[in-house]
Formats: sequence, structure tokens, C-alpha cells
Amino acid sequence: MDHAARDLCTFIDAAPSSAHAAQTLADRLLAAGFHELDARAPQWQLAAGRFLVRRGATVIAFILRGAGPPQRFRLIGAHTDSPHLRLKPRAAYHCEGCRQFGVEVYGGALLNSWLDRDLGLAGTVHTADGGRHLVRLHRPLARVAQLAIHLDRKINDDGLRLNPQLHLAPFWGLAGSEKDGKNEADAAFTALLATAGVSAGEIVAHDLALYDLTASTLGGAADEFIFAPRLDNLASCHAGLAALLDAGDGDAATVPVLACFDHEEVGSGSDTGADGPLLGAVLERIALERGLGRAAFLAALAGSALISADMAHAVHPNYADRHEPRHKPRLGGGPVLKSSANVRYATTADSAAALRALAKRADVTLQDFVVRSDLGCGSTIGPATAARLGLSVVDVGNPMLSMHSARECAASADHAPYIRLLTEHLRG
Ligand code: ZN
Repeated sequence: MDHAARDLCTFIDAAPSSAHAAQTLADRLLAAGFHELDARAPQWQLAAGRFLVRRGATVIAFILRGAGPPQRFRLIGAHTDSPHLRLKPRAAYHCEGCRQFGVEVYGGALLNSWLDRDLGLAGTVHTADGGRHLVRLHRPLARVAQLAIHLDRKINDDGLRLNPQLHLAPFWGLAGSEKDGKNEADAAFTALLATAGVSAGEIVAHDLALYDLTASTLGGAADEFIFAPRLDNLASCHAGLAALLDAGDGDAATVPVLACFDHEEVGSGSDTGADGPLLGAVLERIALERGLGRAAFLAALAGSALISADMAHAVHPNYADRHEPRHKPRLGGGPVLKSSANVRYATTADSAAALRALAKRADVTLQDFVVRSDLGCGSTIGPATAARLGLSVVDVGNPMLSMHSARECAASADHAPYIRLLTEHLRG
């Protein structure tokens, strides 16, 4: 059990941004014999083998087991992005003697969790020569300092209120003096990026996320827990990857696919999101390259199934009343089947029944989740994917606490069964 959980920790620590998550996925796929396809190439020449397509921070990988036309796809969908603080375009400025970064909140972050942490910086920087550089400053560079209690005496009674414009800007240095009317903070920021290998003066755009430097680890008295950032949803990317790498054998007419999308935490509506055209285009290209017509492709889709793999809410021992009394997944209790009458999750009775059969074959115990009727429900890539592609989708994920905190928590024992379940699905 420990091996899968420990490897997950290594995976997460290599992926401080969605761009790094995509790179880490691609690195592991390439090392396992996958070939990268260029989405702009008019033909792919697909023989039997292992392939991946990348666009931005999204990776789609698939295995063609035989030379014949595919009759169905078995897919896993997950997401590479997690809530975080992201640098604004004109990020660097001075205030009260400090250098600061202006930040936007990406996704539904638990804002308090970003206070008083040692933060690094990671993402992509674009240069004037057309280059796109993965950048990582893995050192305690920045900090969002909380106000001292002496200056906010009622905070423990009234609760913490953070205005994202006013209160989340980290400082990352002491201000130098302005020379020749030049913005010193800008110059210092450019010099900082130069330490990561991007030549100063050439930067034309960036997409940079702050991240907590604390390493992922197993924790608890007997290493029962995984304490890590971005478990939502790198745990599912990692489990999906392990499943795909193990899915070489199986029915030659079934194509196993792993799709790890960007932009789930902000609604999936982008060229690299699950509500964009990318996955449908890749599947259709596979079909066309293998000689299927449009009708046969649509028939293959209709017979296909996707597991939307995304983390689930374990019952919190201090807040047990926030769960529906008969649907309280526990840490360590196994993967969670998520349902929502209002289709916040894509699970149907059909896809739930298929998943239960799958779990039985894989010897995996499932737990059930539905949100309390008086609370709003989160969502996943599941409904958008089902609506776009017209295939059967079920929402599943491992139980966790502190979802959307800068530091989350899951159970070590749940990761291996999650991989087993996804592997059984891809075997087709
Ligand atoms: Zn998620």
C-alpha cells in the first residue's frame, strides 16, 4: 500500500503547477514508451502502440492494442489544475517598503490556508522568440503574512475575513530605490526570473502560480494519511496514469484513454478544458486514422464509458453533521461513488451499476456520496464530458479532507484500490 502512496507524494512534489503536472505526466509516459503526437500534424499514422497528445497543461494519452478499427473507448478523465494564487500580468509593485506581487485567486481556494506559508513560484514564461519555458523557483520566495492578533482583537470570535484584492498580496523582498524613473519592482522581478534561466528583457507573458514548499509526506501514527498539496486532483492523475501504464493487455478493439485536463477548477470552458473540443477531436482522429466513418465513430462513442476521477469529501470528525447521515465516506474506506440528482456529478443508475460490477471484479470496496439536500454540491469534469461526447460517465474519487486547502489530506490505504479500480476499467 505504501508504494503507491509514496510514489503519489513524489509525483505531486514534481508538479507545483498545472503545466508542471502535464510535464510530469508526459515525462512518465515518454519513459514508458509513449510517442508524442503533434496536434497540428494532418496525419498521425497510428500503428499499434502508445501515444500522447499535449496542449497547454492538458495531456491525453491512449494505447492502440491492435491494428484493427476501434469499437469502443474506455476513458479516465481527471484534472491537472488546483486552486491557487496566480500572479497578475503586471505583478510586481512596491508598497510600504516591500516588494509585492498582485495575485488573482484561481478557483475556489480556501484563502486562509495560504497565510504564513513559505511560498515558491512555478509555471510558464513566454519569451519574445516564441519560446515557452517551464519555470520553478523552489525556495521560500514569498509570503502572505497574516495580521497580528493585537491589530485585530476580535478575529477569533468574528472569524477571519479576507478580501482577495486587499489581503492576499504576498511580499517577496524589500523595496530597492527607484532609479531613472524605472519601476524597480519590475526590474527585480525580471532579474528573479533570470535566476530560473529566462533571459531578462525577453519576457512577454507569464502564467505563474504560488505554491507551498512543504513536501508531501505520509503522516499519522502508522502512516495512515497522505499530507500533501493538490491531492485534488493530482491523486487521480497519478492513479489514472498508473492504470494506463498497466493497461497494455486487453481487448484489441477497446482503446484505453487517459485525459488529464486543465481548467476544471474554473469551469472547464477553455481550449484545454473538458468542456472544450480537445478530447472529442483526439478520439475522432483515432477513429478516422483507423478507417472508421463518422457513423461508426458515433456508434463507438455510444458504446464507450468514462470514469470521471476526482477526489471526494470524506466525513470530517469535527463536522460530521455536514454530511448526509447515510452517505458519510470515511478516510481509508475506499473509493467513493458520487451521485447528484441535479447532475452536478454525471453518475446515472446505469453507470453506477456498471461501476459496482467493475469494483467487484477488481475486489475494491466502494463508498457512496450524495451531498446533504440543504447544501450545494460541487462538480467535476463528468457532466461536461458526458454532455459533449454522449458517452456513459460515472463520477468516482478517493475520500479526502481539507479539499481546496493549500495542504490537503487523504488516506494512504485508499490509493492502491483506486488504481486497481481504474486499471480494471481500462482493461475493457
Ligand atoms: Zn477536483
